[in-house]
Amino acid sequence: MVSWEECSKTQPRVVRLLKNSIRKQRLAHAYIFEGAHGTGKMATATVLAKTFLCRNSEDGNPCESCSNCKRITSGNHPDVHIIIPDGQNIKIDQIRGLQKEFAYSGMESSKKVYIIEHADKMTVQAANSLLKFLEEPGNDTIALLLTEQVHRLLDTIRSRAQTLTFSPLPPQGILEKLLQDDIPKPVAMLASSLTSDYAEALEICREEWFAQARAKVIQLTEDLRLRPDYCLVVLQDQYLSFFKEKDQLRLALNLLLIWYRDLLSIHLSNSENVVFFDQLQALEQQALHTSQKKTGEALQAILTAQARLRSNVSPLMVMEQLVLRLREG
Ligand SMILES: [Zn+2]
Repeated sequence: MVSWEECSKTQPRVVRLLKNSIRKQRLAHAYIFEGAHGTGKMATATVLAKTFLCRNSEDGNPCESCSNCKRITSGNHPDVHIIIPDGQNIKIDQIRGLQKEFAYSGMESSKKVYIIEHADKMTVQAANSLLKFLEEPGNDTIALLLTEQVHRLLDTIRSRAQTLTFSPLPPQGILEKLLQDDIPKPVAMLASSLTSDYAEALEICREEWFAQARAKVIQLTEDLRLRPDYCLVVLQDQYLSFFKEKDQLRLALNLLLIWYRDLLSIHLSNSENVVFFDQLQALEQQALHTSQKKTGEALQAILTAQARLRSNVSPLMVMEQLVLRLREG
């Protein structure tokens, strides 16, 4: 069961704003919740609906025990309507159905809430039909339009609703959600330090290739440490043949950057920050044979390699230079 408290862990600003409006009885008639997938838009919409319909809400919190709260928790309150795309789109018939429902007064009171998920998927006809609905005066209705692509909503709809932006999750929040999705921790740790978009992180984790890339980069650090000359020899066959595309090589460099950041964390006795946590032993071994200063130089070398790659230097040349600089460390 979600609560304001739970929602404010990831969206403190949005929750503060909504609760203030509830306390002052100044809720808008329509909100647009916009933000990346997984940022808690639906959870927030549910708690807002519950607070709005609760019979005994106190200080902006739902009681969780009245019949309205209970029915919203179990997802079958007659005055809370959720619309989701029917196939690719939200069609005009779905909006008309909603209007029809709303023509009758509420079952419990006159209060009603409707939530439109992926509101950007409304067809033009559906959106125009909703627009008329939003323009109808007053009554105790709240419209909540959820979207990951707010720019796709009609301007006329946006101008009639208050837009609340849901921030991307912090790395820790993304990690927790990935673990809840049964992603193995080593991969989840890495993905959550690569992106602050939960959907993207999940996609990265689900690619078989990503786990292989991670293993490849770990292998590279071992080669650099134990067989630096051999490393240059096999650069093309072992590594560049795997990181074929530029995007793939860019990712490899990002992983390498994280590896050396981990190494720095170990030098600074912050091993709890280590992302490659299952490689702690290897990292500690490497830390024994290099200094903090050298590690800083290695990080700089990787950043330089990334810049050279961006300015179209050939991948082989970029990587050869990088390996030469890293093996000195
Ligand atoms: Zn209640």
